[in-house]
Amino acid sequence: MTKTLPSLEQQILQLKKQRNAVILAHFYQDSEIQDIADFVGDSLDLSRKASNTSADEIIFCGVKFMAEVAKILSPQKRVLIPDYKAGCSLEDSCQPQDFAKFRALHPDAIAITYINCSAQIKALSDIIVTSTNAQKIISQIPKNQKIIFAPDQHLGKYIAKQTGRDMILWNGSCIVHEQFSEKELVKLIANHSSALVIAHPECPEQLLKYAHHIGSTSSLLNFVKINQGLEFIVLTEPHIIHQMRKINPKAKFYDCPFINTSGCSACNNCPHMQLNNLEKLLEVTERANNSRFGGEIQLDEAIRIKAEKPLRKMLEMS
Ligand code: SF4
Repeated sequence: MTKTLPSLEQQILQLKKQRNAVILAHFYQDSEIQDIADFVGDSLDLSRKASNTSADEIIFCGVKFMAEVAKILSPQKRVLIPDYKAGCSLEDSCQPQDFAKFRALHPDAIAITYINCSAQIKALSDIIVTSTNAQKIISQIPKNQKIIFAPDQHLGKYIAKQTGRDMILWNGSCIVHEQFSEKELVKLIANHSSALVIAHPECPEQLLKYAHHIGSTSSLLNFVKINQGLEFIVLTEPHIIHQMRKINPKAKFYDCPFINTSGCSACNNCPHMQLNNLEKLLEVTERANNSRFGGEIQLDEAIRIKAEKPLRKMLEMS
């Protein structure tokens, strides 16, 4: 009788147990990664949950800056990532030397920085924010205090509008949210006139004007949860729809295509998140630093301590 080999998922779960590891998956990961994870969520929520566990290791299925946040908040734990190349266009847009020069141009401004940035940028910032708490935190800053907001210009513009604050914006953007096609969105709205448009504030202003609800990934999920059975046009990375279907099984979801430079519509997945898959997750769970693609997140302790300060400030203020 031939013996059936364990599936990738079974192997990962067995190794995870042996290593006393916890697996985290961001909402933008493939559904099979989300389904195998101990926690699915946004970057901060995942890092906080992992730090409250007794696990020795955190395996972060997301992009590198997210795994760094986990390491900053849990320095005693080993943090692994399936693919080191999983970066982020927002992180790439904001390099430490350029950011330091930008800060020097505005010496009387404080730097409020979106969590989608490297540990080095966090170390150069005063307060970190997420798309969930940015508005609340910025509203607490005295009106006469100048603010630099980096790296997402679209989120910055949205918050500036919501809070009435005039902020000095860095000009980064997310390649996923920036490329949703307004033309395709208008067509989708025309074809599904009863659908509610829900959008992440990383989308440009010209797309946000169509939205019935704007918010972070958790806020979008909450909106879907309280509107059972309706139709939604989703303006964020479409892998989040996997969780939306779970909490609102009778609803219908439509994601908005990109328009690429050649003019044809293209898929709208985050190419960085897509670098992670079950094979790489198994490899990093099995071999840690001997994996071909990923391995352990290494952070200089001086940078980690400096980066922790504005993150803790955010937690105090939110
Ligand atoms: S979806 Fe955008 S912001 Fe999120 S990781 Fe990908 S490039 Fe970065």
